[in-house]
Amino acid sequence: MFKKLTLSAIVLASSLIAGSEVNVYSSRHYDTDKELYKMFEKKTGIKVNVIQAKADALIKRMESEGTKSPADVLITVDAARIFKAQQKGLFQPIKSDYLEKNIPAQFKDKDNRWFAVTKRARVIAVRKDVKMPKEVFYEDLADPKYKGQIMVRSSSNVYNQSLMAAVIAHNGVEKATQWAKGVVANMARNPKGSDRDQARGVANKIGSIAIMNTYYIGKLANGKASDKDVVKNVNIIFPKFKDGGTHVNVSAAGVTKHAKNKENGIKFIEFLASKEAQSLFAKANYEYPIIKDAEISPLVASWGALNQDNVSINKLGEENAAAVKALDVAGWK
Ligand code: FE
Repeated sequence: MFKKLTLSAIVLASSLIAGSEVNVYSSRHYDTDKELYKMFEKKTGIKVNVIQAKADALIKRMESEGTKSPADVLITVDAARIFKAQQKGLFQPIKSDYLEKNIPAQFKDKDNRWFAVTKRARVIAVRKDVKMPKEVFYEDLADPKYKGQIMVRSSSNVYNQSLMAAVIAHNGVEKATQWAKGVVANMARNPKGSDRDQARGVANKIGSIAIMNTYYIGKLANGKASDKDVVKNVNIIFPKFKDGGTHVNVSAAGVTKHAKNKENGIKFIEFLASKEAQSLFAKANYEYPIIKDAEISPLVASWGALNQDNVSINKLGEENAAAVKALDVAGWK
């Protein structure tokens, strides 16, 4: 009891000193985040003000706001955009023993300007009547034996750009471009729609292999009746790179360069990486926790173990421009 009182007194005192709000610019587009913000407010007494928009719009907005930007924290849903924000100097290094200790090097900036807070794997959903080998490599998706079968969204989508950046990191630009050409040749239709639409297309036999992020499968499985059926009709396979593991992307957050509530911003990111918040990301949004000892959703666990690739988020960001170019050269619409 005494310990509890002391802790909340410290939290209250520190939030009074640091000011009582944190302004978050977020490109995460998931309802569960609102619940997380409420949890943070209740725990700390720090009010969370959120502006939600696409990452590029938020980055532009921060650039035009300059030193006057009210943003204390920027959250993105992918490697390339967090890297872009960093390149533009929109973050500042922070000191957090908790984040430094608990977030693996692969998933944070070396100068502590941003930290990943959740992971998602880019996998394939394959219709159950289609025979696939037990082990699938991303490289195989370019094999002509899958002609007319692959469903995937546009190359303007950053999840595909980061996957391509990983292909480049493993195989070099030339082989990666050949790979993308092979995938394009195997497409069931010109890319359109969302990740979820690819799985729906597979269930409707437009194609048989959908490339998609894991959490969208979780959302389909807990969505409307027809989407539940989509999931019942597919097997989830975790492809690997021939010399690596399954491609993972992240949601990541950093304290902005001109943060007026820096300490609150740090506390907010520490909260997102806390066991409590990590479990909610995992349970309610079917993402993979970034810290070691948080639980994952039983549904996600039922698809099998994630043997994640070791290309760093930083590297995915560095290779984004090359990836966009190579996808274009390959004719991936
Ligand atoms: Fe998404």
